[in-house]
Amino acid sequence: VLLLIVPATLGVIGLAGWYLGGIAMQPIHDSYDQLQRFTADASHELRSPLSAITSNAQYGLISKSNDIEAQRQRFGKIFDVAKSMNTLVNNLLFLARHAGRLSPESLQEVDLKSELLQIADEYATQEATQHLNLTYTLPTKSLIVLGDANLLRQAVVNLLSNACKYTPAGGQVQLRLFTQSYWAVIEVMDSGIGIPNADLPHIFERFYRVDKKRSRKTGGYGLGLSIVHQIVAAHAGYISVKSVVEKGTTFQIFLQLK
Ligand code: ADP
Repeated sequence: VLLLIVPATLGVIGLAGWYLGGIAMQPIHDSYDQLQRFTADASHELRSPLSAITSNAQYGLISKSNDIEAQRQRFGKIFDVAKSMNTLVNNLLFLARHAGRLSPESLQEVDLKSELLQIADEYATQEATQHLNLTYTLPTKSLIVLGDANLLRQAVVNLLSNACKYTPAGGQVQLRLFTQSYWAVIEVMDSGIGIPNADLPHIFERFYRVDKKRSRKTGGYGLGLSIVHQIVAAHAGYISVKSVVEKGTTFQIFLQLK
């Protein structure tokens, strides 16, 4: 759905898939067909949790059983599904609200180092990261870009949370910030399950999941990376991904330094 901005596949280096996408020279505008597909995909994704809620509620209403435990389990199921629908709807709203480039008046100086420090602090205490070895390498000096701090934080959090989700216990997740000529580079590297080469050009598409069963178990709808892509595009930046199956994945976000 996503790429009116045509990404460039730069080829394959050794076993590692290498992909560069999101070159945001133009704002993102969906064509009519893309909008139609997005709406169809979104409705499809909303339908299965809704039917789980409806059937559980209906069964609870007509059941004459006094089994309190079974009732609790049904409510639990309804609650879980409603929560995950809430995440989905929030993500859909996010994609709808933040399409296109940021307006010049909404640009602020963002100190990436302090934003990433804050994220690092928050992540250090999260349960999802307890089974992993998390490291952060930040520069000594501040790195300033023009942008929207909340959006940039969201992009980094999405990459980090994927890195944690797709890395088995005992693995490594590394967050780095450095400069490369005129660019600030935010790198999220993991030693996780990796992404097959054939999937790499698609992972930024809305609703794209490498392995639907695997992702459904971890609760994903395939929107996290399209949100990252949209945020990076709004900042006229680039995003690249390199991955080797069963070895790990590295995402890099390039943002122009002020
Ligand atoms: P999801 O909510 O399913 O994680 P995303 O848009 O964030 O959706 O990611 C799309 C797909 O890309 C995921 O379903 C997953 O298969 C793959 N993926 C994303 N990040 C990683 C990673 N760090 N390691 C392995 N696979 C990943």
